[in-house]
Amino acid sequence: MDKYYVTTAIDYVNALPHIGHAYEKIAADILARYYRLQGRDVFFLTGVDEHGSKVEKAARLAGMQPQQYCDLMSEKFQQAWAKLDLSYNYFIRTTDERHVTVVQKLFRQLKDNGDIYKGSYSGIYCEGCEDYLRERDLDADGNCPSHKQKPRQFTEENYFFCLSKYKDKLRQWLSSGDCVVQPESRRREVLKQLDDAELSDFSVSRSRSSLTWGIPVPDEPEQIIYVWIDALANYLTGVGYLTDPDCLSRYWPADLHLIGKDITKFHAIYWPAILMSAGLPLPKRIFGHGFITVEGQKISKTIGNVVDPICLVETYGADAVRFFLFSATPFDQDGDFSKQDFINKVNAELANNLGNLLNRTLTLVERYCGGKVPARAPENNLREASNEVSVVVDKHIESLEFAKAIEAIFALVDETNKYLNDEKPWALFKDNKTVEGETVLLTALEILRRVSLCLYPFTPQLASEIWYQLGYHTKIETLAHGDDFMWELIPAGQLIRNKGPIFKRIDSSCVD
Ligand SMILES: [Zn+2]
Repeated sequence: MDKYYVTTAIDYVNALPHIGHAYEKIAADILARYYRLQGRDVFFLTGVDEHGSKVEKAARLAGMQPQQYCDLMSEKFQQAWAKLDLSYNYFIRTTDERHVTVVQKLFRQLKDNGDIYKGSYSGIYCEGCEDYLRERDLDADGNCPSHKQKPRQFTEENYFFCLSKYKDKLRQWLSSGDCVVQPESRRREVLKQLDDAELSDFSVSRSRSSLTWGIPVPDEPEQIIYVWIDALANYLTGVGYLTDPDCLSRYWPADLHLIGKDITKFHAIYWPAILMSAGLPLPKRIFGHGFITVEGQKISKTIGNVVDPICLVETYGADAVRFFLFSATPFDQDGDFSKQDFINKVNAELANNLGNLLNRTLTLVERYCGGKVPARAPENNLREASNEVSVVVDKHIESLEFAKAIEAIFALVDETNKYLNDEKPWALFKDNKTVEGETVLLTALEILRRVSLCLYPFTPQLASEIWYQLGYHTKIETLAHGDDFMWELIPAGQLIRNKGPIFKRIDSSCVD
């Protein structure tokens, strides 16, 4: 069985999860559910980054010990992800004991290979970025452009990773067909960064005087392992590096690292160099997605537009949120979350378009076919259209073009609604054209079956509810027959269950 290992970035626990964090995690969940349905052996890893000065500072402000604070915040992340129906296999916390072991062993291994050496570093450092900046990157006021704060002058002795040694190999890999950094514009950007003379060996530890909350360098407690080796190694810990060789060989290398576009450099340059040094295979694909703004503005605590995914899900349901986020914006570009657009879109597509198709079809099947799936063949044009949609949806999901996949599914729903309007099965039955009437209803039922399977990765609850109302006893998530079931037909004689609307219209006056 083919495996599929997908990871997300791990978020800092210095603040509660917001809609931007949720966006990436849902994308990974869509892929995980999709590939499980295809019969792949999926491992979906997500988690949180609990180390670093930002987290330590947040704990201090909350009047808590760092570990106590991390325990609390990590719980909040997991609660949020449960509400959004994320089906991850493992939730990693960088304070996990097994992760600490992995990071220290990896550090030692890189050092033993001669790729980590001690040096003196002097530069300007932004706490928000947790990185050294260059003078030329500062804004007119001498501030970090992302954090609007003055960076600190910094000189200290710490460890460096010898990136220069791997530049040629990285260039080869980034230019070869073996590496897929996407979107393509990012791959070119990374290649350019690699040629930049200023991209030099990077520092992989801090002295305890500048960083206290982190994993100590082995045998050298005065040095703390700095963000990159600690955070990036989570992808190895998650699948049992150094602890579970069977799991590791089963899933590594990752099929996809899903990340925000702002950390592409670290994933497409630092991470593969570390893996090269450790003698491990490189990830198959790295995808840097766009960001979500809220009502046209960057998500920011100071602006106060941090949309809480839990509130949203409690009010509107996980499916509505999942559906909107991925139908409204191409995944590789920036998108916006506007409450009015959200309500308009889910009402139009989920309540009206899809909800009505299911409702009217089931009501007619009850009235004219005794509540049973008629033993007829589906109408050919629509059947072909739905075959095409399945193929197109596969193609779009595999290339992470989620909005296009959803668009194709809903175009089919539209077409089927139009088909019912044109064919008027109720009139056919009244004219005693039973065969024709049954053919129309069977066609609509078959399309609904197909639609629920295609929609399942995006809106798992809604798709399962359609599946249930179509009369199935098995659950969608237990299907894993590869492509085969997609081409079967809804079984003749199956008793449908007409349980009313699957999605309740949202009253648009409730926008605050
Ligand atoms: Zn900064």
